[in-house]
Amino acid sequence: MDSDPLGLVKCQQCLGDLRYGDGAFACDKCSLRYPVRQNLIFMGYDRKEQEHINKIILTESAHQTNLDEIDKHYDFAQPSFKLSLILANMAKNDIESDGAVALDVGCAGGPTGKILSESGFNTYRCELDPNSLFSGLHWKHKNLQFGKHIVCDTQWLPFPNESADLVFCKELVHHIADFAPFFREVNRVLKNNGVFILAEPSINYRDRLAQILGLSQDKHYGHHYQVNSAYLKSLKESSFQLYRYFIYDYQLKRPLFLNADEGPKKNRLPHSSLKMKFQRAFGGSNVFFLRKTANLRQYPKRPQIELINSKCLLLTDDYLEDERLKKFHQILHQAAQGK
Ligand SMILES: [Zn+2]
Repeated sequence: MDSDPLGLVKCQQCLGDLRYGDGAFACDKCSLRYPVRQNLIFMGYDRKEQEHINKIILTESAHQTNLDEIDKHYDFAQPSFKLSLILANMAKNDIESDGAVALDVGCAGGPTGKILSESGFNTYRCELDPNSLFSGLHWKHKNLQFGKHIVCDTQWLPFPNESADLVFCKELVHHIADFAPFFREVNRVLKNNGVFILAEPSINYRDRLAQILGLSQDKHYGHHYQVNSAYLKSLKESSFQLYRYFIYDYQLKRPLFLNADEGPKKNRLPHSSLKMKFQRAFGGSNVFFLRKTANLRQYPKRPQIELINSKCLLLTDDYLEDERLKKFHQILHQAAQGK
């Protein structure tokens, strides 16, 4: 075991120090014990959200980890992994500090923790659904040891103020109905000038019309798609400045309008508004690169934490050995070779 399994992780309720022993991380001040099971630290969520949170966990467990439906995940994996590699590479250039702390927030079972670790980041993985988080443990890296995999509601991150250099968030925010508090929480954990990467699908005019007419096809519990300008407005209110924007086309498997002139060192604002209009007309996934420009005057009071029951974790080590997962490693390897 690592000599310091605690790393940056704090009590999710009071953000105070934890101590490790007897298979749990404990906060004496809150009399809370966060149990460890199968390499995951089980934290929780705001007690008031219990019903909603349990529904999300059930929905995502079924959606993300069912190996009998793995084919559709293979199809998605190729463009998705390619995007993650592009983003990690840019983050490495923008941040330029080996061992910088990255939080992979809403990571599910994907390889982004491994990709960020290979790019030199000291990476923590955070995810609400324990099965999704566990399913990603087949992505191995020496930095992704015990203490780096945390089951928690991403709205209440168990890290100190101004502790992270990068918050990486891919395809999470459309699961959050009221995303402004989440952006404020990202502001809290990021260092000043820290980078927030948000890769997020959003609705275009045709989707919006279908929503208004009640013809929307999306029946997935907990999906709340927005228009991209709603995200940007809220991000600005949380003291984030956009320094790069492009669209990622999952069908073409490549970025659109990725402008080399846009970057933190160019000292010029990106031409984002036309590109965002293009996305609203024709679709595609938004990629926002943002810098935190200031702390917020005030952060919300921490809630009473209800722990996620570690019995919700149904997967076992057998899952990680399943042959069908190997194809994801081939897909990642090919994406890294530029195929
Ligand atoms: Zn505490």
